[in-house]
Amino acid sequence: MYDFQLVKPSSVAEAIEALGAEDAQALGGGQTLLPTMKARLAQTDTLVSLAHVEEMKGVCTDDAGRLCVGGGTTHAAAAEALKSDYPALSSLAARIGDPAVRARGTMGGSVANDDPSACWPAGVLGSGATVVAAGKSGTREIGADDFFQGMFTTALEEGEIITEIRFPVPEKAAYEKMIQPASRFPLVAAYVAKFADGVRVAITGASSDGVFRWTEAETALSQDFSAEAVKGLAAPDAGGMISDLHGSAEYRAHLCKVMTARAVKAAG
Ligand SMILES: Cc1cc2nc3c(=O)[nH]c(=O)nc-3n(C[C@H](O)[C@H](O)[C@H](O)COP(=O)(O)OP(=O)(O)OC[C@H]3O[C@@H](n4cnc5c(N)ncnc54)[C@H](O)[C@@H]3O)c2cc1C
Repeated sequence: MYDFQLVKPSSVAEAIEALGAEDAQALGGGQTLLPTMKARLAQTDTLVSLAHVEEMKGVCTDDAGRLCVGGGTTHAAAAEALKSDYPALSSLAARIGDPAVRARGTMGGSVANDDPSACWPAGVLGSGATVVAAGKSGTREIGADDFFQGMFTTALEEGEIITEIRFPVPEKAAYEKMIQPASRFPLVAAYVAKFADGVRVAITGASSDGVFRWTEAETALSQDFSAEAVKGLAAPDAGGMISDLHGSAEYRAHLCKVMTARAVKAAG
């Protein structure tokens, strides 16, 4: 690990100011960033820990009835707080990694990192949520459809942090994850959410472009919300699928169908 300074702001304003320093980087739960730094694959002069920014923690409801999850909320705290109001999202958070990862890792860190196999991006995109980002030029809202821009790539600008994500609550939803047992990350997972005006389906773990909406499944499920409706579809094009020692592109494409059908059944 290279030398660095650790700064511990206690408000969003202080964090933004600290992130204005040259080569400064936000630290959420450190579950991704610290191992990367230890392996000397990442280097920063100043780590700005968000762990003491209380205004970025917890879950509340806004005037539009959306559930607002603070960017610094750990996976474990989100799983607990969302249990009764949004069980599908609670269940997603409750199955991330292991207890140690869930106790430290944060929702904001996972979404900002945008690992192509991460769970939260599927919940955010599948719910059609709104990401709230704060930076030097103020606060802005970014719709999920515009936020995820490819593997490890988001609409966040330099020095911006995710302070909150606002989730509309669907009529029915479920997250089904085929676990890659060594890492606990999904090999492929599907988040399905049925709203009054249609169904959203987000797939993670499959595409080399990261999380994506499977629009053919959305159209079919908006007409007929049943696992049978998914079985009749062609699997997403395997051309853009990840292929590695854990699963071929064709296998992952097949799992998109299987996990989506299971999620529809679970949302029941
Ligand atoms: C053994 C293991 C198993 C795991 N299993 C899973 C799994 O099943 N599913 C899954 O989804 N993930 C899994 N993870 C990853 C885990 O969820 C991490 O917690 C997550 O990827 C990063 O969150 P963090 O808060 O630790 O972020 P950090 O590691 O602190 O930061 C990651 C990146 O996000 C940036 N960042 C942090 N917070 C913010 C913020 N609020 N705004 C903007 N940028 C920010 C940092 O600068 C950095 O670039 C696993 C990790 C481990 C070690």
